[in-house]
Amino acid sequence: MGETIGDSMIRDSMAPDGLLLEAVTSVPGIGPARAAMLARAGIETVEDLLLYLPFRYEDRSTVVAVSQVVVGRTCTLKVVVERLRRVGRGRGGRVEATVSDDSGTIRVVWFRQPYIADSLHKGDVVWLFGKVGEHDDKPQLANPVFERAERQAGLHVGRLVPIYRRIGSLKQGMLRRIMAAAFERVTFAPESLPAQTRKALRLLDRYEALRAIHFPPDDADVEAYNAGRSAAHQRLVCEEFLAFQTALQLQRPGVGARARGEAKLFDQGTVDAVLRALPFVLTDGQQGAVAEILADMRSAAPMHRLLQGDVGCGKTAVAGCAMLVAASTGCQAAIMAPTEILARQHAESLGPWAASQGLDLECLTGSTPAGERRRIMARLADGDLRLLVGTHALIEPAVSFANLGLAVIDEQHRFGVRQRAALRDKGATGGGSLPDLLVMTATPIPRTLALTVYGDLDVCTIGDMPPGRQKVVSEVVPTAQWKRVVGMLLDTVGRGEQAYVVAPRIEGGDDELAAAVKLQADLRRQPPGVGVGLLHGAQGTEEKFAAMQAFVDGATEVLAATTVVEVGVDVPNATLMVVGHAESFGLAQLHQLRGRVGRGERASTCVFMAHRPLSPVAAARLEAVSSITDGFVLAEKDLLLRGPGEVLGTRQAGIAGLRVGDPFRDHEWLEATRSEARRLAAADDAESRAYRERVTVFWERRFGVLGAG
Ligand code: ADP
Ligand code: MG
Repeated sequence: MGETIGDSMIRDSMAPDGLLLEAVTSVPGIGPARAAMLARAGIETVEDLLLYLPFRYEDRSTVVAVSQVVVGRTCTLKVVVERLRRVGRGRGGRVEATVSDDSGTIRVVWFRQPYIADSLHKGDVVWLFGKVGEHDDKPQLANPVFERAERQAGLHVGRLVPIYRRIGSLKQGMLRRIMAAAFERVTFAPESLPAQTRKALRLLDRYEALRAIHFPPDDADVEAYNAGRSAAHQRLVCEEFLAFQTALQLQRPGVGARARGEAKLFDQGTVDAVLRALPFVLTDGQQGAVAEILADMRSAAPMHRLLQGDVGCGKTAVAGCAMLVAASTGCQAAIMAPTEILARQHAESLGPWAASQGLDLECLTGSTPAGERRRIMARLADGDLRLLVGTHALIEPAVSFANLGLAVIDEQHRFGVRQRAALRDKGATGGGSLPDLLVMTATPIPRTLALTVYGDLDVCTIGDMPPGRQKVVSEVVPTAQWKRVVGMLLDTVGRGEQAYVVAPRIEGGDDELAAAVKLQADLRRQPPGVGVGLLHGAQGTEEKFAAMQAFVDGATEVLAATTVVEVGVDVPNATLMVVGHAESFGLAQLHQLRGRVGRGERASTCVFMAHRPLSPVAAARLEAVSSITDGFVLAEKDLLLRGPGEVLGTRQAGIAGLRVGDPFRDHEWLEATRSEARRLAAADDAESRAYRERVTVFWERRFGVLGAG
């Protein structure tokens, strides 16, 4: 490429207009204390500062005559101070004023802001903005924002005023002053987008957009600004989406990433033999997924695929099939799960299956004893062991593979971007090329979000369920009916089936449904002969595993637990799930918990116990989860009830790292930038190349990795 990565950034920062990349302390008024506050909000450079967008705008531009004020409404006045005095001191003190314009006079009062008496004087011309109240039957302005009318336009009044969320102790007024000071210095910003891109997406010039965000022009459309849909917003949102999407395009391994023709060679006979060893026949959905995955494994470019499907649809069997076929070609395959229980469960279901094909499988977790760990690691390093199941322990630096050909990440949303990349990169440590990558999720992600988070991962979805599954019957039951629910538990156990009872916490809380420990104790006092186990996150690994194993073996019929049972746990004999204080869980979590039952052929029930009174949002959530069983429909619903940040969880929101854009509000821009990003990722002109370099540098700085998924 002729120049090293970063050259163009350095050039930018040396240019006279590279002021954007200077530290915020270059802005007058920002000293070390304020800089530290801003840094905690991720704002270090002037550019970061200018990309701190107002969350709304208030129209304080239209000045009304004093005689026209309406009680109960907000208004902007431009007036002369006629009289001003301080009344009382301390907490009860206030400043009273009378102000006027050509049309009349009005009383103003400021409570608990004695300093106003020092900064305003008789004869001053000021802007006031506030709500009109009444006093002695006459209109009065209480605690208005004021600003001396020295300039043509005000900063806080007399325009479309940006309202910022406070940062530390920097309130919106101060932030407006800081932005104004920044723009006194920064009078130009280098264009960061290729000209062709700006033209294609019809975007404003960068400086113009930054300025218009903080200082909307006089003719600005208030509604467009408040909807985040002004031309200025579009420019900044597209700029961000484009960088993000281009980075995703660039991290997608190309054909060249598969060195020396490493497409996996296997014939249909191998696949058939692997599938014959399963105790069941794959559903159509599973077969479709297997076909796509195997086609990826045969192709010249490494697989980069997301397998999604609702809880219980049988993703493990699909992944297992890919792993066994991969291992049959001589390479290694590994699956990483987020919890030890899940890893061991995978080892138990995949182990015998592997053995049927003459393959060994081992399980490596944080609690694998040192001797065994050494043995497993030695076998991995010399290639003798081809199949590995485990937790985060798989990505520790000491673990190295001779020839990792397939990396599977189960419940991928539980891992961070670095962790996912770390497993994929294990393939390259032995000098090999990138392995095939398959990430799986049972938390359905709405399409718009999937695009943001996964970019160009190929996606396949299992849309059906293994045969014979009964729909889980869901009920919302008031906490007061706990006795009746205990009756249901005993009936379930009486039929030889099992039940989970989940509480939001381990210990403490007010009632018997608040904590798992109390639940166990309470249920143990029920008619004798019912074994009640206990599972929660504060237990040691062996204790957890013993509790799980006792439940799997049927030694305990009821398992009192926290949400540690939420992910992946598979006990088909469990047919009743009781969720205590269901109002305190999120929608995705409730759906996951319900997914623990209905895994066998018997009818299953999920009881969401709700503590009244319910907040409207909690009520809506429970209504949604009890009436909708399709995880994808629920996910869309979830989105309506909460924002995207929460749906994704901080981890995933962090991956996206979006500051300006909102994948929901701005989804059509997301799609527009996606095709432009594709073009930019492949284009060979100088501008596109320079843009790619900038994106790469930016991305590596922000995430330290061009990671997986
Ligand atoms: P998830 O997609 O949530 O990870 P699992 O892979 O844990 O689901 O599968 C749930 C249960 O369904 C397991 O007990 C598994 O053995 C069983 N299962 C998977 N596929 C089939 C199938 N085609 N027919 C019958 N049972 C199946
Ligand atoms: Mg699973």
